[in-house]
This record gives sequence, structure tokens and C-alpha cells, in this order.
Amino acid sequence: VHPAASVVHAFRASAARTPDHPAVAYFDGRLGYREADELSDSVAGHLAARGLARGDRVAIMLQNSPQFVLALLGAWKAGAVVVPLNPMYKSAEVGHALTDAGVAALICSDRAWEAFLRECAAAASVRIAVTACERDLQTRDDPRVLGFERPPRAEDADDLLAVARRGLPAPGGREAGPGDTALISYTSGTSGRPKGAMNTHGNIMYNAERQVTGQRVPPGSVYFALAPLFHITGMVCELAACFANAGTLALTHRFEPGVVLDAFAEHRPAYTVGPSTAYMALAAHPAATPGHFASFRQLSSGGAPLPPALVEKFRAALGLYLHNGYGLTECTAPCASVPPGVEAPVDPVSGTLAVGVPGPDTVVRVLDEAGAEVPFGEQGEIAVRGPQVVPGYWRLPEATEETFPGGELRTGDIGFMDAEGWLYVVDRKKDMINASGFKVWPREVEDVLYTHPAVREAAVVGVPDAYRGETVKAYVSLRPGAAVDGDGLGAYCRERLAAYKYPRTVVVLPELPKTTSGKILRRELRSQRND
Ligand code: ATP
Repeated sequence: VHPAASVVHAFRASAARTPDHPAVAYFDGRLGYREADELSDSVAGHLAARGLARGDRVAIMLQNSPQFVLALLGAWKAGAVVVPLNPMYKSAEVGHALTDAGVAALICSDRAWEAFLRECAAAASVRIAVTACERDLQTRDDPRVLGFERPPRAEDADDLLAVARRGLPAPGGREAGPGDTALISYTSGTSGRPKGAMNTHGNIMYNAERQVTGQRVPPGSVYFALAPLFHITGMVCELAACFANAGTLALTHRFEPGVVLDAFAEHRPAYTVGPSTAYMALAAHPAATPGHFASFRQLSSGGAPLPPALVEKFRAALGLYLHNGYGLTECTAPCASVPPGVEAPVDPVSGTLAVGVPGPDTVVRVLDEAGAEVPFGEQGEIAVRGPQVVPGYWRLPEATEETFPGGELRTGDIGFMDAEGWLYVVDRKKDMINASGFKVWPREVEDVLYTHPAVREAAVVGVPDAYRGETVKAYVSLRPGAAVDGDGLGAYCRERLAAYKYPRTVVVLPELPKTTSGKILRRELRSQRND
């Protein structure tokens, strides 16, 4: 591992050492390090020629694809701050991000441009538009996955791959350093208006290099992007770690279990990270065999809770262990993880699986309401200080002061630390259910639901109740052929949980609502009226 100032720096170093090694693998297409370096230089040169200045914001709204990588490296090489946007965003969400971040250039798919982004960009005074052909982003059979023949396209936007092929040099000048902002990452806004966390190049490279040194993934290995690249987990643990380790980033355009299993067989990845829901979908796929996973050195679950019963279900299905990891956008993905070759303990009292141990330069404290540290084993709010914690939110001094007092991140997660230094996350502070004055943490109830063999997904929320103030309600989806109903699951929980904790209603849905990064959306269930 070379200490690198930025992903671009790391990428160039890998390109110098292994110019012909594939940097990106996408279906049948491969992009070598030198080739991708040159193509992204040209994207940078084009953006500069269009008037983009250092420090300007470039929004990228693309699915996982080689085009995403070229856009990202190109924007960084031009000295820009990148604003990654979820390709599922609708106009209101995009509009907020474009305006709030004062975006100068937008790189997106041609279809989204035609459908609604042209209007959003105009309303937000975006000056530069570059589009990628949607068809190229989606097909495996099209020989032009990385081809450059275009159908007629919009006149008010340049074509990404044509621009990349122009052979322009990247603009010169000062290279971005560790203290410069690399990303403005918008939180999904479950707690109000989305805020833009400012991840620096130093934040990203610290966590990327921690991944490389902390894992047993040999240099040059294939990293599979199970998490979307616009999300901080994909950006750091997959893309940045891969390029820092001179690896090959294998991509599929989106998560589809069958397609992903095919990609495993084709690319033989050594590492991936994704939410537990993705692993369960892979394990449940009829074609899944242990052989699909034979090349992996490590499988990590991150960014969302990992119920202990899922670890066991996954092990029973495929004989593999899932490594938990805990992080937030505000600490640039992980701040605690389970070391390779080690299994995380399960707390005997609550049944919670540890999320990991904090990294070497990371200080995790558990605080009471007054901000004082609590003893081992006691619950409180998790606070994090370390080289991966962002300096603050974009143009929100008050929210920054509130969330990062003295530079320490208050996560809003309730958890505890055991005497050996393992960290446990109980739940999000704001998701606590108050049933007749008793605290109920949804995750504890979900963990019990997951122990039932028929349960595929579970989410627990509080609903208003005239007598108790709030009461516990569960939503589940079931595995195919399951012979249990909501009442049966309610009775199952009742046998295993205190009277105030078990769900009074269990609703069975075909599928639970999830974010694109695979997190189950309790917020959406809370507002549902389907009983
Ligand atoms: P918002 O912050 O706007 O609600 P979000 O949930 O998408 O959006 P992220 O930064 O992606 O924000 O997610 C961080 C949260 O995910 C953490 O605060 C924690 O609640 C949860 N989380 C992440 N990893 C784990 C884990 N291993 N176990 C339990 N919870 C986790």
C-alpha cells in the first residue's frame, strides 16, 4: 500500500505499476489502468475547457458502470468537488442537491436528462452537462458496452464517452490534498432536510487504506461492487480501496441476484461489501451455490444492521461468514469493523451482534444525555473521533456544531461497548418506541423475528396507541413456501419477548420498502396504513 493523497493519486500510482491490469470489469468489457487514466484525463480536460474551475461542484448521477468511474476520476482530476446523486432520485431531491451544493456541472444518463434532468439543471443554473448513453449502462450483450458509437443525442449536453476519447490532457495545477473536500454526500434525510456531509480526500483515503491493510485481500484482486458507488460504502470500501490496492472493480449496473451471481462466476472477486438484505437475496436465489462464493477472501456487511440470525442463515446456506461493519456517511463509511479471521461476539443479554472494533486511530465513546462517558456495558449515544470523521456539513454551521461538537461525531445511534472493546449498536435514537413508558428498540424485536425460519425481512415500528401511547408493530416478508401468518409470528415473538416488547400486529408484505443501498425503510412503513 502506498500512502496516497487522494483516489486520483492512488489510481495513478496503480496505473504506473500495472498499466495493463484491468481497473474496471463490466460484463464483457474491461478497462485497463492506463486506458482509464487517459480517458478520465480527457474528461477532466473537457470539463476545464467548458469553464469548470477548481473547487466547483460536479454532480454525478449514474448507475454502477465504467462511465461512473470515468466521470468520478475526471471530475476529481479537474479539481472539482463531486456530489454523488442516487440515480433513483426524483426531481425534488435532485433539485435540492443541485441548488444547495451550487452545482456547476452535471454528469448523468441521457435518458434521465431527457426525462427531467434538463429542467432541474436549468432551474439550478447548472452550466455544463455531460450525458452517458443509458443503453451502454445497462446491456451486457451490446458489444458497445464500452463502445463509442452513439445514437443521435441531445445538443445541449456532451457525450461522456466521446469526450473521454478526445485525448485531452487533464488540466495542470495543484493536485487535491488530504484536507480538500472530495465529496458532498447527501444523507437520505430521515431526520429532516438532507444534509451534505463534506468528505475530504484524506477521510476517503484513510478508510480506503485501512480496508486494504486491515483485510486479507491481495493486491490486484477483484473487488465486486455490491453496494452502489454513489453511496459512501461503495465509494470507499469498494472503489477507493480497490484502486488503492491496484485491483479490478467489477460492476453490474444494479443489484439483481441472478446477474450478480453470474458476475461472481465470471470475475472471481475476492472482496465485496453490501447490506445484509443483499446477501439474503443472493442466498435465497435458486441458482446460488457455494461455488459462486469460492473466490472470496472476505464478505462484509455494512451500512445497515446485521441480525445475528441472518449470519447463521447465510452460513447454513453457503457455509460462509459475514463480517459486520459499522459506519455513517459522516465518518466516510466504516469506523468499526470485524477483523478478518475473527467472528464477532453476540451479547448474551440482548442477543445483539457486535458491529466490530474501532480502527487504530479511531476513538469511539458511548455518552449519556449530558455528554459524559458511560461505563462498559451501559447504553448511550455512540460518538466517534478519527481521521475518517468529516469536518462538517456543507454550509450548515449550526447543524455542524450540533452533530460534531469539538470535532467529535454524535452518531444518533444508541449502543454500548463491552470490556474487550467490541462495539454494539442497539438502534437509532429516533427509532425508539415508547410503549407505556417502556423503551422498546425495534432492532431487538427484528432480531427475534429473523430467528424464525420463514422470515426473510423484518422491520418494526412504533404506532400511536390510545392506551399505551405507542405500540409495537411489525412488518415482514416471508421466504417462498412459508407456512406461517402474521398471527403465528406474533405468537412466536410473544414467547420470546417481554410483554411490552412483542408486536401486537404483524403484517405480512410481499416485499419491504428499501433504499437503493438496500436499507429497509422503517420511515415509510410508519406512514403506511394497511391494517
Ligand atoms: P440518514 O442519516 O439521513 O438517516 P442513512 O441512513 O442513509 O441516512 P447512512 O450514513 O447511510 O445514513 O447510514 C448510517 C446509519 O446506518 C448509522 O447511523 C446506523 O444507524 C446504521 N448502520 C450502519 N452500519 C450498521 C451496522 N453494522 N449495524 C447497525 N446499524 C448500522
